[in-house]
Amino acid sequence: MRFADTTALKIAMIEASRAIIAAEPELTRVDSVIGDGDHGIGLIEQLSENNFSTPYDLFHAVGLCLVKSMGGSSGVLFGTLFISGLEEIKDKDSLNGVDMAAFLSGGIQGVIRRGRANPGDKTMVDALLPAESEMNSALKSTDDLGQVLKAAHKGALSGVESTKNMVSRLGRSKNFREQVIGWPDPGAMSVSILLGGLANSLSQD
Ligand code: ADP
Ligand code: MG
Repeated sequence: MRFADTTALKIAMIEASRAIIAAEPELTRVDSVIGDGDHGIGLIEQLSENNFSTPYDLFHAVGLCLVKSMGGSSGVLFGTLFISGLEEIKDKDSLNGVDMAAFLSGGIQGVIRRGRANPGDKTMVDALLPAESEMNSALKSTDDLGQVLKAAHKGALSGVESTKNMVSRLGRSKNFREQVIGWPDPGAMSVSILLGGLANSLSQD
């Protein structure tokens, strides 16, 4: 899909929420302290019950809902991911790959500003930065929304793999020290599932 309007984006967000819910057992196993998997449920309710007139309104609501329903630092950071890039899509009725990349990059920069994670700290940033870089490479040859999201997903997946060898330097899992080696970061996993859900939904023509 080259462009997506608010309705298509809402459907894609619902699909991404479903993907996160489906991964809940795995996410919970990895993040055994809190179980990051249950935030998808609140999101589906919020999305289904409301109408949004623009992509801006939709993603703004998604961001607020994530802060509220997930809670904790990951709720704030996922909320920031959807809120920090909103200026980039202001006044747009539909988004193509270029718009989506600008929106996500703004969100990623926001997450880094807020959480102050460096690459290698074993956080969602280790999925977000490779997602951004794959997305930017894809933009050199296409402005297709589905293609750009697929590239972002691919980058995130390789980022998740890379977190397996990292020791946490931030967040609660830092207390587990070397025990975390071999396990992917749950926040990075959530990022890749989210991008995968969006890419799946928005790649269909
Ligand atoms: P919560 O308070 O939500 O339980 P955690 O400490 O369990 O927070 O972290 C959840 C996820 O959030 C981690 O897997 C990591 O990806 C991400 N995270 C935690 N702290 C930061 C940070 N400062 N910057 C970026 N991401 C972070
Ligand atoms: Mg946690």
